[in-house]
Amino acid sequence: MPGSACSGCDPVIRSLLIANRGEIARRIIRTARRMGIRTVAVHSDADAALPFVREADQAVRIGRALPRDTYLRGDLILAAARDAGAEAIHPGYGFLSENAEFADAVEAAGLVWIGAPPAAIRAMGLKDAAKRLMDEAGVPTTPGYLGDDQSSERLAMEAARIGWPVLIKAVAGGGGKGMRRVDRAPDFPDALASCRREAAAAFGDDRVLLEKYILNPRHIEVQVFGDRHGGVVHLFERDCSLQRRHQKVIEEAPAPGMAPDTRESLCAAAVRAARAVDYVGAGTIEFIADGSGPLRADRIWFMEMNTRLQVEHPVTEAITGQDLVEWQIRVASGEALPRTQQELRIDGWAVEARLYAEDPARDFLPSIGRVDVLAPPDDGVRVDAGIEAGDAVSPFYDPMIAKLIAHAPTREQAIDALAAHMDGLMIWPLRTNAGFVARALRQPDFATGHVDTGLLGREHTALASDRAIDPPLLAAAIRLLGEAGEASLHGPWGAGSAFRLNADPASTVTLHIDGDRVEASRNAIAAIRPNGRCLRWGDDAALLCQEGVTRLAGLAPPLRSAGAMAGDGAVLAPMPGRVVSVEVSVGERVEAGRRLVVIEAMKMEQALLAPFDGVVEALPVEAGGSVPEGALLVRIAPAAD
Ligand code: ADP
Repeated sequence: MPGSACSGCDPVIRSLLIANRGEIARRIIRTARRMGIRTVAVHSDADAALPFVREADQAVRIGRALPRDTYLRGDLILAAARDAGAEAIHPGYGFLSENAEFADAVEAAGLVWIGAPPAAIRAMGLKDAAKRLMDEAGVPTTPGYLGDDQSSERLAMEAARIGWPVLIKAVAGGGGKGMRRVDRAPDFPDALASCRREAAAAFGDDRVLLEKYILNPRHIEVQVFGDRHGGVVHLFERDCSLQRRHQKVIEEAPAPGMAPDTRESLCAAAVRAARAVDYVGAGTIEFIADGSGPLRADRIWFMEMNTRLQVEHPVTEAITGQDLVEWQIRVASGEALPRTQQELRIDGWAVEARLYAEDPARDFLPSIGRVDVLAPPDDGVRVDAGIEAGDAVSPFYDPMIAKLIAHAPTREQAIDALAAHMDGLMIWPLRTNAGFVARALRQPDFATGHVDTGLLGREHTALASDRAIDPPLLAAAIRLLGEAGEASLHGPWGAGSAFRLNADPASTVTLHIDGDRVEASRNAIAAIRPNGRCLRWGDDAALLCQEGVTRLAGLAPPLRSAGAMAGDGAVLAPMPGRVVSVEVSVGERVEAGRRLVVIEAMKMEQALLAPFDGVVEALPVEAGGSVPEGALLVRIAPAAD
């Protein structure tokens, strides 16, 4: 990351507390340290062993685990800041970063708030008020309905007027929650009811607005920055169209296909939006663009403003050579913006992928627990990680492991560099989306810049399917296991194995890979360089990493299966969570794959499916209840016939 040491100025802030965790806490510590600022971390018990806690100059425990008992407890965080003598608070993203009351309390306590002005947070906090404000400021907004009349009849009438498809959005929405696309009038009442339910539960506010649903939408956002002296600049755009269920997965800067004059008018609109709320600090104006054709200025509309630093800020740092956390600290200290608009330029292309602990093969179920191996290739790709090998991904927070950012002169080179990095990203035993991301980066439409927010959904089956392991990598594994075997011939392994060191080199060997038997040829052992990585794992196993997918290989079957699903029809909670819905009843016949129960944890809903055909025998949970990990949700008795 670039960084000019402070030249001829003395930052007002000498110490700051980070009201956040994981990778963003580490990211802030890095810049603060370079600027000579003392850092204070706050942490839950669940996070006590994580890198950000030891990397901070001081760490203060604030509670056990749940966000509402820890990172959302503004009172505890303020007390920690007082006790530690911190002069400022940086909220990172998420948690309290867009909480105007907390921002007020920080300032009332005489501390510097390294975040958006509370008035701007409030002005942009509700989607309908924000859109009205933007209309007034001359920033184009999506056609829709923002009225106070929230009756179902009026909303249905307005939806028909806007024209199908229509998107229902929670006024207080965020994080992709409380949104429903409706394609036909008959579907509107149910969609409205479920959107209101979700909005009331998630935000305590069931009001909605309607928008024209943009077909083939692209998500394009502009990074803006304001200072206390009336200065506002933009740092160009990012394209975040690669999303899964409205959550960003791959982001890039600049946006593919953005002509200079379109960029100029888009970024000017973003600056107008920031000025309309007297913005100070780092902010992002999110736009939705019609991606059915080339980008046009009159086909890009304001969606919302995020009044904080974004997860994807590193791609902007890469192409502008600026450190946005440093900008935040300087601006919060009262300094003018570090660069003028004329001094900011786009240099090359940057692509970021979010690496999540989740299993694409099991509908992206979060994969929780200790990470024994976390070995990104050392290839110049920027890795902003929250954990290291030996740390755990906990069930209490977002399951993001790291952000990986490649920067190169051209888009093609940046994508290639990131895809190659994902290929060799060895992680064990947690499942991750690395393979999914590696394939998405090579998807032909993405590669040619034909992106829209539906791309990952349409290509889901292909992207979620792991490719069989290439023969040269299998051969490399056999060789590695042979060395392991040689070392343990006198040990418990060895006997009964299909592998013999003096076997005919042309023979095949049976490998057990993640529970499957794979016949592998020993041929071509040193002849071909395998496209992937292979690592000894214990005495008698190896980890094989190909295209971002890490698998366990051995010559003998593993002692126990890695799958969590019990074979006796007991469907267990894969993580602690809340039961959202129960979709069957006792005595009901179900077919394999039928949805039984939906549970929610870590902001994600997970449907539990029937493992085989049978009858619901036991159902000890009900909607609304919470369940610990491993709790019995449903027991299915196998069908008799
Ligand atoms: P949230 O605040 O919950 O993140 P946004 O309003 O930012 O919600 O929208 C999230 C995503 O939903 C966008 O990135 C885009 O993919 C999609 N989206 C939002 N508005 C529209 C629209 N009018 N038409 C089509 N897709 C939309």
